[in-house]
Formats: sequence, C-alpha cells, structure tokens
Amino acid sequence: MPVDVDKLKIVSYPHPVLREKAQPIEAVNDEVRAVAERMIELMHEARGVGLAAPQVALPWRMFVANPTGESDDDRVYINPALTEPSRDTEMSEEGCLSLPGINAPIMRPIGITITATDLDGNTFTETSDQLPARVWQHENDHLNAVLIIDKMTPNDLRVNRKAIAALEAGA
Ligand SMILES: [Zn+2]
Repeated sequence: MPVDVDKLKIVSYPHPVLREKAQPIEAVNDEVRAVAERMIELMHEARGVGLAAPQVALPWRMFVANPTGESDDDRVYINPALTEPSRDTEMSEEGCLSLPGINAPIMRPIGITITATDLDGNTFTETSDQLPARVWQHENDHLNAVLIIDKMTPNDLRVNRKAIAALEAGA
C-alpha cells in the first residue's frame, strides 16, 4: 500500500509502531522522498530538532533532523549506522515529540559518527560532538524501538510517572 503522505502525522506513545524495530529502506524512490519532505514539515511545525519515521507510524529506517532550526540545515538520514561513540558521556535534557510533556536528562556519548544514505541514494558520513550527535542518537534509538522513557533514571521515571500514565490511558 503506498503511503498517503498528506495523512502522515506525529503519533504519541504508546502507538505500537514506536515499539516495532524499523526495517531498512530498500530503494530511495519518490515515495521515500515525499515522506521525508513531509516529515521535515511536521518536525518544523512541532518545533522539534529531529523526527524518526516510526514517529509518523512508518516502520522505516529513516529520520530527519535539524538541530539549528535554520531551513537550510534540514537533513535526511536513510538506513543510518552509528559508529565510534566517544568514551566520554554526558547527561543532557531531552524531550520527544511522541512523548509530549515528558522531559529528562539522558546519558549518551558526547561524540559519534553517522553513516547514512541521502535522498539521492548516496552514502555520506558525518561526525559531531555537539547537539547533532545527541539528536542522531535519540532518533536512531527510535529505529530500534527505544524511547527516552527506557533510558531515564528510576527517579526521573517517577517524576514523569503521571504524564506517562496519561499517555498510556490515551488522555
Ligand atoms: Zn523522540
């Protein structure tokens, strides 16, 4: 079934696709390009810095990111792979467009390298030890069905318990 791009919207936890391991994209075709374009629009509308395909209920290994908010900084990462995480880690506050109202510091490597395919089907590699590195790791987690509620400290889970329960209740 082809994707109806106009119907794509950001889904919230506990939507089942958020807990599904996403599958590789076999060919970068017009449908993939149209979905990526719509995901970029949705990310900006929601004032997010990244959005993964499972967050629009597509179990595809693709995410979009824009850590600066500038329109010429939109990036698309298809079938990404993360390598060479730095030994140094840090805690930094994260939220998630699929977990509205929930925030917590999450521990991650500071630096990382990403290799992915772009919308022309070309492979590229980037390295960052700034905000993009954190966004890549957060979005890549989505492709593996991992959410920030899985990575919070027990105390932060307690702090966010009511917001999580409200989402689970469909409130
Ligand atoms: Zn997220």
